[in-house]
Amino acid sequence: MQNLAILGATGSIGASTIDVVERHPDKFRVVALSAHSQTGRIVELARRLKPLYLALPGAPQAREVRAALARDSLRTEVLEGAAGLEQIARAPEVDCVMSAIVGAAGLPPTLAAARSGKKILLANKESLVLAGGLLMAEVAAHGAVLLPIDSEHNAVFQCMPAQGSRVGGASGVRRILLTASGGPFRTTPVSELAGVTPDQACAHPNWNMGRKISVDSATMMNKGLEVIEAHWLFDAPAECIDVLIHPQSVVHSMVEYLDGSVLAQLGTPDMRTPIAYALAWPQRMDAGVNMLDLAAKGCLTFERPDHERFPCLALAYAALHAGGTAPAVLNAANEVAVAAFLRGELGFMGIHDTVEETLQRSTIRAADCLDTVFAADRAARDTAHALLAAART
Ligand code: NAD
Ligand code: MG
Repeated sequence: MQNLAILGATGSIGASTIDVVERHPDKFRVVALSAHSQTGRIVELARRLKPLYLALPGAPQAREVRAALARDSLRTEVLEGAAGLEQIARAPEVDCVMSAIVGAAGLPPTLAAARSGKKILLANKESLVLAGGLLMAEVAAHGAVLLPIDSEHNAVFQCMPAQGSRVGGASGVRRILLTASGGPFRTTPVSELAGVTPDQACAHPNWNMGRKISVDSATMMNKGLEVIEAHWLFDAPAECIDVLIHPQSVVHSMVEYLDGSVLAQLGTPDMRTPIAYALAWPQRMDAGVNMLDLAAKGCLTFERPDHERFPCLALAYAALHAGGTAPAVLNAANEVAVAAFLRGELGFMGIHDTVEETLQRSTIRAADCLDTVFAADRAARDTAHALLAAART
């Protein structure tokens, strides 16, 4: 029996995780959940899953949830704020932490889980983008196990010769090929991109995801963040990580070997597959997913990304080359710009421009401690907000 904490339980990955876990009550027990805004939903989940702990963002939400649970005479302990999230990630009753908060807020509890030697199922790619070096060092130092949930990295993990394999050296691995769907605007005329709406950007052709990552898929910043994520997970230099557009989202990524072999992981686009893989690893279990019908698919296609259409991809490679706090700056500026786009305050192409300008104005330092990383994150957010405010006047 594995005792599981789900950070970001009310989100898209959180819901898929609960779906998989509820199919296997003999293997998993949910002992902790966190939510940021949907208190009604977390109360409903607490009644169903009866966890030992809940983490809410602050005192008002915690009071509301405690009052609701008192009526059910549930004994769940309700924790508050960032400290509550870290407490859950460290709790002795927890074996395995699903890190599925969106954005930089996911980093501190993920680090806490690493320092407590937990098995970490990592959906929150921002943790690696912000502080990949620090997180991987903590995982190694404390004997934690880090399994990627992001479908591409989960696919690469499945195609690698062994756990812990890296690109180059004795592994025989030459390159990582990350696939990308190209999002909803793959064939939209570039001249029309400036006018697209948040709802159009969130209407992903193959995946049903949270709104932030959906916009990132439409700009391909998501793939850029994933290049940085792959760099840390598989110790791969930027020039050994390539991106291929594959609109059908059936091949989730590939690993190229020295002898010319290319291994791929295929499946129906459904996040329950990588979640079930990581939960059951090194075994396999049913994920409730429709099996892949290749004959019905008929044809799988691949093309190179168009950098004029997707300029964010090159920004992410540049940030990876620059190193230090540059990826944290990239991520922070992107979070601010995407939120402004979703509020209708910034045009779609303005996301790239805001991130590029923020990177140019930022001082890049060595990412040698968490304080430096968060200082860079805060400064980049201030710069991006100032740029957006200046554009409005
Ligand atoms: P989502 O927006 O659906 O859910 C996010 C969750 O995080 C919610 O539970 C929310 O309450 C919580 N949250 C939001 N802001 C928070 C904050 N400041 N502090 C604490 N909790 C907060 O997002 P999602 O699509 O489930 O994505 C979650 C993570 O997984 C992201 O890092 C995303 O990049 C990654 N991911 C998602 C998918 C997918 O298919 N949805 C695929 C690959 C990777
Ligand atoms: Mg992905």
